[in-house]
Amino acid sequence: PPRRRLGVEQYVEGVLARDRGVLARVITLIESRRPDDRETARRVLDALVPHSGRSIRLGITGVPGAGKSTLIEAMGMNLLDAGRRVAVLAIDPSSRLTGGSILGDKTRMPRLSTRDDAYIRPSPTGSTLGGVAGHTREAMIACEAAGFDVVIVETVGVGQSETTVADMVDTFLAVLIAGAGDELQGIKRGLVEMVDLLAINKADGENRRPVERAVAQYRNAIRLLHPPESPWIPPVLPCSAREGSGLDALWEQVLAHRQALERAGLLSEKRRSQAVRWMWDLVDDSVRRMLREGPGLRDLAEGLEARVRDGELTASTAADRLLSALGLSADRSAVP
Ligand code: GDP
Repeated sequence: PPRRRLGVEQYVEGVLARDRGVLARVITLIESRRPDDRETARRVLDALVPHSGRSIRLGITGVPGAGKSTLIEAMGMNLLDAGRRVAVLAIDPSSRLTGGSILGDKTRMPRLSTRDDAYIRPSPTGSTLGGVAGHTREAMIACEAAGFDVVIVETVGVGQSETTVADMVDTFLAVLIAGAGDELQGIKRGLVEMVDLLAINKADGENRRPVERAVAQYRNAIRLLHPPESPWIPPVLPCSAREGSGLDALWEQVLAHRQALERAGLLSEKRRSQAVRWMWDLVDDSVRRMLREGPGLRDLAEGLEARVRDGELTASTAADRLLSALGLSADRSAVP
């Protein structure tokens, strides 16, 4: 049976009192499609924002099978032992297609998921990447207000999701594996330009030597990408999530990256520009949603699209008509 909804103050107090049940319910409100839930979520978040922002925000990407969940579980347990509280959120664009989430699944992190000082939340399903990203950003605020001082956002190396995660965290880590001649795969995909830290995982058993070679190759490639005077040159570290080796060194580099940002006065600047980009993403999203869902607007948009496609109407005239249907007037006189 659906549980009785709480009032805004009760949600806020529950989160601030670190009640995980209430935190989970707030995130469910954030992910809800019901307008009244969204309104409650908005008011709860507005009250929580002043209590947020104090965590280490770490993004982790890697292809399925690279060992992300093994690594998050092992590193997460180390962090709990050190007295930290760890939240794991997932952004999984494939969950939209499969209707189920493959990331952040509690069964993939069995030890972490039983701990009171850890919180694991799978990717919300049935939404666009933009929607999921917004939900995750808001869930991050709620987790921080609930006293989680490390928030890990996990994603798979698919399409836009990496850029999306890179734009909501302080430090972005790629988990790579050696072998099958795809050593420099991350470089081809442009991933290396986006990450602050690279871990070559599965450095154990017979895989040790291939990992060492991959580490050397990535270090060379990174040297070419970053001038020596760069404020931060992404370190490449071998690790074995399974054996737990190399994970302390990896975490030290997470902290070192953070310190480098702070020393250069860039951490708060980075978060501020992320917030501003988020605002514009929301505006873009809303305009597109209005066009899709607004009464009559969808038909208008589709009709105009068809006429632009057929060459009957210029893109610019069609755009003007859509904007004026939204009650906006387009003055593009400055645009050639
Ligand atoms: P994810 O899809 O990136 O989350 O990868 P998983 O953490 O689920 O790991 C995929 C597979 O690789 C599993 O069978 C793990 O046991 C294995 N694995 C993960 N880390 C290591 C490691 O450090 N060494 C070895 N040998 N296997 C690992």
